[in-house]
Amino acid sequence: MNDVRIAIIGAGFSGLGMAIRLRQAGIDDFVVLEREHEVGGTWWVNSYPGCQCDIPSHLYSFSFAPNPNWSRTYSPQEEIQRYLHECVDRFGVGSKIRLGCDVTAAEWDEVDRRWRLETSAGPFRAQILVTGAGALSVPSRPSLPGLDDFEGATFHSSQWDHGAELDGSRVAVIGTGASAIQLVPEIQPRVERLHLFQRTAPWVFPRTDRPISNAERWLYRRVPLAQRLVRGAVYANFESRAVAMTVDTRLLKPFQAIARRHLHRQVEDPELRAKLEPTYLIGCKRILVSNDYYPALTQANAEVVTDPIRAVTRSGIVTADGTERELDAIVFATGFKVAEWPTLGFVRGREGARLADVWHERGAQAYLGTAIAGFPNMFSLLGPGTALGHNSVVYMIESQIAYVLDCLRVMDERSLAAVEVEPAVQAAYDAEIQARLKNTVWASGCASWYLHPSGRNPTIWPSFTFSFRRRTRRFDPSDYRLEAAHAARPAPVAA
Ligand SMILES: Cc1cc2nc3c(=O)[nH]c(=O)nc-3n(C[C@H](O)[C@H](O)[C@H](O)COP(=O)(O)OP(=O)(O)OC[C@H]3O[C@@H](n4cnc5c(N)ncnc54)[C@H](O)[C@@H]3O)c2cc1C
Repeated sequence: MNDVRIAIIGAGFSGLGMAIRLRQAGIDDFVVLEREHEVGGTWWVNSYPGCQCDIPSHLYSFSFAPNPNWSRTYSPQEEIQRYLHECVDRFGVGSKIRLGCDVTAAEWDEVDRRWRLETSAGPFRAQILVTGAGALSVPSRPSLPGLDDFEGATFHSSQWDHGAELDGSRVAVIGTGASAIQLVPEIQPRVERLHLFQRTAPWVFPRTDRPISNAERWLYRRVPLAQRLVRGAVYANFESRAVAMTVDTRLLKPFQAIARRHLHRQVEDPELRAKLEPTYLIGCKRILVSNDYYPALTQANAEVVTDPIRAVTRSGIVTADGTERELDAIVFATGFKVAEWPTLGFVRGREGARLADVWHERGAQAYLGTAIAGFPNMFSLLGPGTALGHNSVVYMIESQIAYVLDCLRVMDERSLAAVEVEPAVQAAYDAEIQARLKNTVWASGCASWYLHPSGRNPTIWPSFTFSFRRRTRRFDPSDYRLEAAHAARPAPVAA
């Protein structure tokens, strides 16, 4: 049995950020358990052509680890993964990371007041469990009739098949979300035919991507304050969108006008333009950014298919109008299972309650997106209600990490064995967040991955990110049930 004070699941931005901050706080008794054989999470797993961030890198990175060497304003996937790898070395947390270690079960032991974890590398026991298992890591694939019979290649954008021969072949891309608009312009020039199956046209903003010059990089290396100022300016620019998204959605009209003009400038054909014109309020789904998505779709070998898919055959896809398109490969750019929180399905809290069942009954909810009633000493980074439609989630992750560190401080000062958020505190918080969401763009009537099938939005933080930071700055013990280290433990239940 491996015994540690803190077990962290996942080595993406969340898990690595937590590990680095613990080490900086002088806490060394922790381990990071990562099922992949590399660090980076999202930025290791997603390797599809064109994969890059859509929040500028000066902001989409740790505040405590600026990288003066970003090559572009929006960095490509390999560079972000390399950055995270370098952070591991820079902050000396490599020896704490167990790669290839899949956590298959985590259960709160009431007698021991410890988490017991089952992993592919053996059992672990920890006082504190921090989950950084990612919200966008379980691919969502539509169940299409006949798909199993298809004789060509099929794969999800996040599980890119680099061996699949796409050059000169007939390829279907299903989906028009953030991954699709990045990969479509990359593969369109290589394939014989590209059929893009679209259910909903996304709003696409012009992308202000450019290489960062040597002079700028020199400046950032020599004068770190200059990069901090740029980061601050980017943050303020993106944060200002929250006003329109969460306070007064009428203010989204100018954003919509910019995106519409972008479409009209890049697509002349009225028929294609009509297909690509979104019909919902901008911001309701994630706003996408691209300068080459529309131009790729105007090429002679590209087609946007808006007819619903009826079935997949051995050699292609048949749409509702009866047309069959012959295909060599189908790429699912259909996003991830988010609202059901499948990545935390294996966790069991008090009395063996499965988190999946608790959330199934009540819908996913966590106090400050971080603490869950019935699950003592557990903290979920980027948990329910922390995703953003307007800014970098790394900012949210860092806020949560500060909250966890403050909780550990309080636990040490008061010699606490366990803390568990009061159910009433969590319920009041959840009611407040759900009420706030009602007046935001995300409740304006589109279908999005932010929403649970019930219509509830367990995903988005519906306000300014600085107000989340303010609320997570201090761990307030009065929100929690506290168990002193010397308190009597419940007797073991006889088998
Ligand atoms: C293609 C793409 C582009 C994105 N671009 C942006 C962007 O520009 N801006 C932005 O703010 N956000 C973006 N996001 C969201 C992105 O997921 C987050 O910004 C961030 O990377 C999440 O980090 P994380 O550490 O919480 O989760 P992840 O990066 O998903 O890492 C979770 C890790 O946990 C591991 N894990 C999961 N379950 C287990 C288990 N049971 N046992 C062991 N290990 C486990 C996984 O293998 C993974 O390595 C993007 C997402 C995708 C998919």
